[in-house]
Amino acid sequence: MTQIPRAGVIGNPISHSLSPKLHSYWLERYGLQGSYTALKVTEDELETTLRSLPDQGFIGANVTIPHKVSVMQFADQITDRATLIGAANTLIFKQDGRIFADNTDGYGFMANLRQGAPDWDPKAGPAAIFGAGGAARAIIVALADAGVPEIVISNRTRAKAEALRADFGARISVIDWVQADKMLVDANTVINTTSLGMVGGQDFKVPLDKLPSTAVVTDIVYNPLKTPFLEAAEQRGCTVVDGLGMLLHQGVPGFERWFGQRPEVDEATRRAVLA
Ligand code: NAP
Repeated sequence: MTQIPRAGVIGNPISHSLSPKLHSYWLERYGLQGSYTALKVTEDELETTLRSLPDQGFIGANVTIPHKVSVMQFADQITDRATLIGAANTLIFKQDGRIFADNTDGYGFMANLRQGAPDWDPKAGPAAIFGAGGAARAIIVALADAGVPEIVISNRTRAKAEALRADFGARISVIDWVQADKMLVDANTVINTTSLGMVGGQDFKVPLDKLPSTAVVTDIVYNPLKTPFLEAAEQRGCTVVDGLGMLLHQGVPGFERWFGQRPEVDEATRRAVLA
């Protein structure tokens, strides 16, 4: 008897994750046999969990906070983009027990921007990034890959932005957090990768009066869907793209590898996940 393929998302905390809704929706939509569940795993349990999942019928998993970096040490094969980013969010368990690790956050970010702003040309001018955390790393790799000519980063803790410049090189410059608005002047792409603006959290307070109306602006915070940052950018006439699509698109490569069907990210998918 063949086992029903299982996948899931590993993190802690995990109850807030939208991934089970997303993958369960796709399984149902395409009439596929399979399951996808949330797995609460502490740092101490990470290795034993990873080693035991294939025996329980798991063919892969997504990985979220706080395990995206530490999971790398248990992988037998790592894609170039995950190596470059230094973190993984998608695992495939091979039949011989080996673990293959990838990072699809940058892919998800890019696919979302291209879908939400079809006329966006990454090569048309500099990108301005607020924040220098884990998500910013993946986004910088994706933007550089897409041919963005110059990337300016501003982060509350300047040293973290400097570390990204040291890792990713010449195309990157850093601006102090108190002067962050200056990087907007000739920006073609503007991205909030900080957690500012999230429901229940602190507000995004950098003034946007230097933001040109020609810029494409996105926020990777998706709760609320239209953050005050996106609202302010929209009022200035910018094309804005919310962050939910990044989450949905980053799930596509994993789902395809595990269940053999490339899933669509469309309005129906968004509705299913938000329901
Ligand atoms: P992270 O590594 O913890 O980085 C958090 C970033 O936010 C850092 O740059 C941090 O600055 C900044 N920050 C936090 N509080 C701040 C404050 N009060 N003032 C100024 N800056 C502040 O987190 P992450 O993994 O990069 O995730 C960042 C956000 O993106 C989270 O809200 C996460 O939920 C969201 N996210 C969304 C997606 C998606 O698919 N849409 C994917 C990944 C992440 P410091 O360095 O100074 O602390």
